[in-house]
Amino acid sequence: MDIEKEIAKTIKKYRLLKKSDKVVVALSGGKDSTSVLYILKKMGYDVHGLLIDLYLGKWSNIHNEKMTAFCEVNDIPLTIVDLKKELGQGICFIKAVLKKQKNLTGCTVCGIIKRWILNKWAKKLGADKLVTGHNLDDEAQNVLMNFLKGNILLGVNSSPATGGKEVVGFAQRVKPLFFVPESEIRKYAKSKKFDILYDKCPCAFGTYRVEIREWMSGISDLEKKKIVENFQKLVPRLRKENVMELKVCKKCGEPSRSELCNFCKIVSCV
Ligand code: AMP
Ligand code: ZN
Repeated sequence: MDIEKEIAKTIKKYRLLKKSDKVVVALSGGKDSTSVLYILKKMGYDVHGLLIDLYLGKWSNIHNEKMTAFCEVNDIPLTIVDLKKELGQGICFIKAVLKKQKNLTGCTVCGIIKRWILNKWAKKLGADKLVTGHNLDDEAQNVLMNFLKGNILLGVNSSPATGGKEVVGFAQRVKPLFFVPESEIRKYAKSKKFDILYDKCPCAFGTYRVEIREWMSGISDLEKKKIVENFQKLVPRLRKENVMELKVCKKCGEPSRSELCNFCKIVSCV
């Protein structure tokens, strides 16, 4: 697969980005976000990297160093946000407290916190769009996880252009790798000899997503594509029948589906 062409096709079809946009790319330091940053820069977009230092020991230090070097070589501005400066603690402490007090486990806490900080900093950096490195495998896992939880409505906002439309005052989250399989991105990153870590996050074990990922490892990329594409055909109908008004969190002002956003609901006890 020519992933550069596939990305260009997705950007065009879903109108993800304009050449005049300031595009902030959320960088985990892994192959997906690094590749999408590199390709968007190559396509001539005005890109800016945004990495949250989660304080995951050596893992975070290596990512910080490698992304700093990568952005320097490729002439891309990079902002590293320090989680301890933002929230006073590293992610492991926050996760431990929330596990004890709210029984929140797995990657849920990390996901909520990362999303909130990325939104806040994207706005601070004047971003029109916030790009993430979510790929076809992530999206296929989401479809199946929501189905197995008996709540396909959780996928109502699923789209390469999250939520399907822009909301004034917020940088829309967009996913140019939505239809690109993880295996193809790995091949691309290796062919470009990107000096990055190829391992999965050391904290992602024992979660439902990991179970589903393993379960799906026997499915071909073509089948994964069918899962994602066929679910996309359902999304407009789900949206029509389940209009979910996007509100503003009354505490922090970030986008939310209820009075308080998920972040404000959980951080008060840390
Ligand atoms: P993950 O939830 O780890 O699978 O990551 C999904 C996407 O979220 C990545 O492709 C990045 O775009 C973004 N992301 C993950 N971790 C970070 C981080 N520490 N800082 C900034 N963005 C991140
Ligand atoms: Zn809030």
